[in-house]
Amino acid sequence: MTALPLDERGYPIPFFVAFVGGKPEFRVADAEKRYRCVKQKLCWMCGNPLNHGKHTFVIGPMGALNRTTDEPPCHNGCAEFSVKACPFLSMPKAKRRDAGIPEEARHPAGISIDRNPGVTCLWTCRGYQLFHDGRGGALFKIPNPSCVRWWTEGRKASRGEVLASINSGLSILQEMANQDGPESTALLEKLKADVMKFIPAFTPMTCGDLMPEDRD
Ligand SMILES: [Zn+2]
Repeated sequence: MTALPLDERGYPIPFFVAFVGGKPEFRVADAEKRYRCVKQKLCWMCGNPLNHGKHTFVIGPMGALNRTTDEPPCHNGCAEFSVKACPFLSMPKAKRRDAGIPEEARHPAGISIDRNPGVTCLWTCRGYQLFHDGRGGALFKIPNPSCVRWWTEGRKASRGEVLASINSGLSILQEMANQDGPESTALLEKLKADVMKFIPAFTPMTCGDLMPEDRD
């Protein structure tokens, strides 16, 4: 991350950031860079090769629940840097500012729930699968993790904070599943039970420390 160019405020400009009119637009991901990250196995944050066998997805609670994201993985160190430094990820009360974003960039692949998730999940694993979202885009299917950490406001999140964030997103999904029928409701229950295995038991310190073999 230290080799990244800086913007006029002195923030590093992540690799994925799109340039609009010659200026970095932090709210929009560059589609071509996303393609290069997949093709050349590059880190979404710094653009350098992911030469380690494991990588880390930066996802919201709903991404952890359905094991799906539209963003390629990063080096673990880059993922940690982003949860400490990114204004959107580190300040859950910050609202997304959509003004001035091109319409097509507001709705990336898949169905995203338009809310600030409050907590961010760092999901370290090996590999992924790409699949079509049925609307012309591609999504990442995330495999079982070797380590999962939850962050909020630039620090590790507590169990209560993670549960509150998951439950607020779940109420939206629950409604969608109920309309869909009993099969969807059952699937959602299963996904919910799965994600509960990866939530810190008591305090932030009991979960969230990387094993040495997971480091970059
Ligand atoms: Zn990186």
